[in-house]
Amino acid sequence: MRLSQAFLPTRKEDPADAEVVSHRLLVRAGYIRMIARGIYTFLPLGWRSVRKIEAVVREEMDRAGALEIMMPAVQPAELWEESGRWDEYGPELLRLTDRKGADFCVGPTHEEVVTDLVRGDIKSYKQLPINLYQIQTKFRDEVRPRFGLMRGREFVMKDAYSFDVDIESAETSYQAMFDAYHRIFQRLGFEYRAVEADTGNIGGSTSHEFQVLADTGEDEIVSCSQCGYAANVEKAEIRVDATDREDVELHPTEKVPTPNASSISDVAAFLDKAPQEIVKTLIFQAEETLVAVLLRGDHDANPIKIATYLRDHTDIEVGDLHLATDAAITKATNAPVGFAGPVGLSIPVFADLAIRPLANFTVGANEADTHLLNVNYDRDFQVTAFADLRLAREGDACGRCGGALTSHRGIEVGHVFLLGDKYSRSMEAHFLDQNGRHQPMQMGCYGIGVTRILAAVVEQNHDDDGIIWPMAIAPYHAILTVLHPDNEDVMAIANDYYQQLQDAGVEVLLDDRNAGIGAKFKDADLIGIPLRVTLGARGVKEGQAELKLRHAPDKEFLSIDDVVPRVIDEVHSALHKS
Ligand code: ATP
Ligand code: MG
Repeated sequence: MRLSQAFLPTRKEDPADAEVVSHRLLVRAGYIRMIARGIYTFLPLGWRSVRKIEAVVREEMDRAGALEIMMPAVQPAELWEESGRWDEYGPELLRLTDRKGADFCVGPTHEEVVTDLVRGDIKSYKQLPINLYQIQTKFRDEVRPRFGLMRGREFVMKDAYSFDVDIESAETSYQAMFDAYHRIFQRLGFEYRAVEADTGNIGGSTSHEFQVLADTGEDEIVSCSQCGYAANVEKAEIRVDATDREDVELHPTEKVPTPNASSISDVAAFLDKAPQEIVKTLIFQAEETLVAVLLRGDHDANPIKIATYLRDHTDIEVGDLHLATDAAITKATNAPVGFAGPVGLSIPVFADLAIRPLANFTVGANEADTHLLNVNYDRDFQVTAFADLRLAREGDACGRCGGALTSHRGIEVGHVFLLGDKYSRSMEAHFLDQNGRHQPMQMGCYGIGVTRILAAVVEQNHDDDGIIWPMAIAPYHAILTVLHPDNEDVMAIANDYYQQLQDAGVEVLLDDRNAGIGAKFKDADLIGIPLRVTLGARGVKEGQAELKLRHAPDKEFLSIDDVVPRVIDEVHSALHKS
């Protein structure tokens, strides 16, 4: 592509709403433009890189035996009513009505459509297993679209769905996808982790997220260098020595005023105590009841662990467990929010294991601007059960081996999920087994955020001057920067390089614009092309051209005839490494 004819609108200014570097650079380098919140156009360079990501994903899906299809973006409500998700999905689902008044949605995901497809045409165990995938635009009306392509409302996803005769076979399909995902993310050059993930209200089955390590990631993950265990903090198991409190003297409880001190840090400062000596009481709303959860002041609740514990160990109808509303808290505690405590509460109290060794701790008094000192469980209130209810954090003991966990931020670029028969049962996707019996198919679903990957690559590959693409997804492999395009000798060589490189399969940009030298270099760095060849009048006179790798600091001078073979060599070796 000749830049004199290209559509490559670079900008000096960052977009006003940009919080992360990938958003800034993709806009400034002319890869994307926002048209509405979380909705973007891909410009020529941006789309070329997206297509390259898709190509890697497609190759590995095909290699793993998945079959590409294309499902509609607009889906009839009836299918979602069958699965129960028309009501469950909430406002993230963009709903629309056609001219006849029939309800539709714009697909945020395609379990319903694919299950409908498969139940219509697959009737026998002989037709299974099957894995169908597509690469398509999804729409989710996210509450907080942000970070450019990282959390958009409209985005491109690869989604695959496997159908098997039984769980064992479904696990094999899952493993094939898991392996394919590793190949994809290795080829894309990511530093990433596959982490165990929560399976949400689908329950029971297996799930992994693929997380690209980046400080700007929205997820927190922990990993153990000793045994390799890695998990989303939402799910991470930790090992806790739940020792009972020592045989210390239990002091009499004392009520103290704590005016306006409702947060742990306020209370700690006001009473001159460490957060570890204060116990916080969180009130959660289950389906019909409230429950209290006690945590040490410096710990954070893990709502997913809490919900799982309640589901597995109590009769409480958990539903969609969430923090209770201010009104519900005030009603349960007779006090404004911020002063809840376990003493005198008439709802079940679950305590994190870290509470067990504590004696004489401080809690809210269920009274405005008041706390209680020297509170002790058993004596002052009853704990329904002690359990691991908190978020894992750096330094915690690994739940598998006891080693120290380290924590990282991650960008979720892929998710594999063993679904079981959630959709096949509700939507009656049945097959006849070898014995002539009807069985629901066992499903898995597997997503990759194609456009989120574009942003994640930039998060991991940039410097102050711009993007540094890995060869495999750079929109072009090389850029020929012509400093004096009006010099015929220089342009003759440039045109010759341009032709030869393209003939050899190298994707080249030719910067033949009548622009300043500084602007040309700045643009080349900003758009992040891996190889730059610079041709100027003086160099050409001396029989030399300059070669610079975007990721390396130094320039190299080559004789005119050596440039083309060298560039071909660099491109091929970089592509074959990945
Ligand atoms: P998240 O927790 O980030 O919202 P999710 O669990 O909703 O993700 P899935 O339903 O598993 O995501 O979707 C599969 C993949 O699609 C994700 O792993 C992610 O890479 C991508 N994805 C999901 N939501 C978005 C979004 N709003 N913008 C861009 N990509 C997204
Ligand atoms: Mg989501």
